[in-house]
Amino acid sequence: MNSLPIKWFQGTSLIDYPGRVASIVFVGGCNFRCRFCYNRDLISADTVPDIDAEEILRELKHRRGFIDGVVITGGEPTLNHGIIDFLCAVKRIGVDVKIDTNGSNPETLEWIIEERLAEYAAMDYKAPLRKLDSVIGAKGMAERVHASAMLLIHRATCRYEFRTTVHPSLHDPFDIDEMAEELHGAAAYHLQQFHPVDSLDSSLLSVPAYGPDFFRAVSHRISDRFPVFSIRNLPDFQMNEPPSSDTETELAPKFINHCADR
Ligand code: SF4
Repeated sequence: MNSLPIKWFQGTSLIDYPGRVASIVFVGGCNFRCRFCYNRDLISADTVPDIDAEEILRELKHRRGFIDGVVITGGEPTLNHGIIDFLCAVKRIGVDVKIDTNGSNPETLEWIIEERLAEYAAMDYKAPLRKLDSVIGAKGMAERVHASAMLLIHRATCRYEFRTTVHPSLHDPFDIDEMAEELHGAAAYHLQQFHPVDSLDSSLLSVPAYGPDFFRAVSHRISDRFPVFSIRNLPDFQMNEPPSSDTETELAPKFINHCADR
């Protein structure tokens, strides 16, 4: 088996694979430097020692009775050629696979989809394509991310979702509209509240995250474009309350500024 830089293993999760009790395999190495990344130890493939893939496979077999899924996440798991062999080995164990990706490797994603090596793909859609570079801290990825998105929307053989972690320093309400437009036709889209635990760019931690009114306002504009849409990481969020007048006031100047910038 080609080697895969597996760094961490979590035996059981009830929240990372919708509808499944899953183990999580964390693969090291990433080609993005997202300002809000909270997995900085997984960005380099060398920071944390590898765990032998065979050991992980033995553990998954041992757990087969009480898990029914495996999440492969990172880092960016599609960067390493060993991912295909590892997915094949996991499929032989007989559990469903969810793969998390930043969308930068449409060729490997296509292989995974065509060969039906995953039952679920979750792709981070970090920002509108025109400002992607500044949010992910890497250049020249927009075309590849777009190709991955189109692959999932038009050719996926598995369940899939797009998700965006939203932060006021990175996204304004109209960026959300733009992403919704770029993801036209997608089966599922989720906006995620930023959790100020850790981030590659520590300045993000001191900026108050958007609150429920912001998410309610953008949800009213874009939710009906997607068969499945939700707001994550915002406890007790109710989509159907109208935004407060304060929020409308707060959003209005941004709208004016945004339009003036164009
Ligand atoms: S958040 Fe960004 S930098 Fe961090 S692991 Fe994911 S894609 Fe890589």
